[in-house]
Amino acid sequence: NVCPVSSIHETYEYQLIQEEMKNPDKIIIFNTSPSVRIALGEEFGMADGSFVEGKMVALLRKLGAKYVLDTNFSADLTILEEGTELIRRLTKQTKPLPQFTSCCPAWVKYLEIYHPDMRDNLSTAKSPIGMQGPTVKTYFAKKMNLDPTKIVNVAVTPCTAKKYEIRREEMCDAGKYLGIEGMRDMDYVITTRELAKWAKEENIDFASLEDSSFDPLMGEASGAGVIFGNSGGVMEAALRTAYEIMTGQNAPADLLNYTPVRGLDDVKEASVEINGMTVNIAVIFGTKNASEFIEKMKNGDKQYHFIEVMTCPGGCIGGGGQPKDTKYQGDILRAKRIAGLYNRDQSMTLRKSHENPEIKQLYAEFYQEPMSDLAEEMLHTSYTDKSKELGK
Ligand code: SF4
Repeated sequence: NVCPVSSIHETYEYQLIQEEMKNPDKIIIFNTSPSVRIALGEEFGMADGSFVEGKMVALLRKLGAKYVLDTNFSADLTILEEGTELIRRLTKQTKPLPQFTSCCPAWVKYLEIYHPDMRDNLSTAKSPIGMQGPTVKTYFAKKMNLDPTKIVNVAVTPCTAKKYEIRREEMCDAGKYLGIEGMRDMDYVITTRELAKWAKEENIDFASLEDSSFDPLMGEASGAGVIFGNSGGVMEAALRTAYEIMTGQNAPADLLNYTPVRGLDDVKEASVEINGMTVNIAVIFGTKNASEFIEKMKNGDKQYHFIEVMTCPGGCIGGGGQPKDTKYQGDILRAKRIAGLYNRDQSMTLRKSHENPEIKQLYAEFYQEPMSDLAEEMLHTSYTDKSKELGK
């Protein structure tokens, strides 16, 4: 209750999931984004930047999950789809360059409103959550013999803008494919802070939970999927895969720890040699920085090939749904969360999206290959000119 006379009540999206849980036929599936596991511990007095993946999964099971899946898996899937699209733009000139990333819904909407002339530059690949949703309700449901209409698909994210993204009209592709009218790919989004609030309400002692693991089929992810959670991570993940697909050779060590795109500068630029081609890249956070960069790019001679844009400072680790920073000034907490993600990536043997065995299985059994007709139908989207929303 947020009102002294009880006339205004604060409601949270997890309360809608609690309602769904009252129906025993419903199958609750949680899908967790990369940055939640690096910040959730802060809400329970754990060290800043603690990597609490196992406890996060255990918490979701305790709260009533039937399955806990990893959106990092779909970060790997995004790299396969978005990387293939980039390679086609580079080698077959299928669409204009540079290609912009499309996994941040706030950036996508900003481009649709303020730079609608650049919609063809935006990758058609949906975000990881946008890919996780329809894949859970088709492939996962079929493999596990679940009725997709009974699935309550929940994304747990650092991001408040994802609440808007899952409700975009075009995010109902599983329903179209299965002939089920009105079924959304992802049903609810709760943020890291909401999850913590829910856990506290249930008096769950998060710090003492025994680690649990994700369920199989959509629960395995590479280090490339892990680093998606920070600015520069999508670019580095894409380069690891694009290099190996284009050259047929292992990515050199410096591409596996590609420092030019790391760190908290709001605009970073670099060039990478791939197959004798100089690929010019940029990594930006903040829409003001993106607009200034676009103006500079339009007025300059340099040909850029791939540009990552995220809205929040430092990327999703600094998302609007993350725990509030009450201790530090500036970037200190963001840097700790970023270090937690890179440390995790560094400690893994599986660090490239295209080597993820569950991704290989998904393509072998369902999507066939990146950008197949079915992949286009379920994992890609289109954009509209929303400049009218400016009211001009
Ligand atoms: Fe959401 Fe911010 Fe991440 Fe964009 S950068 S997806 S707005 S948390």
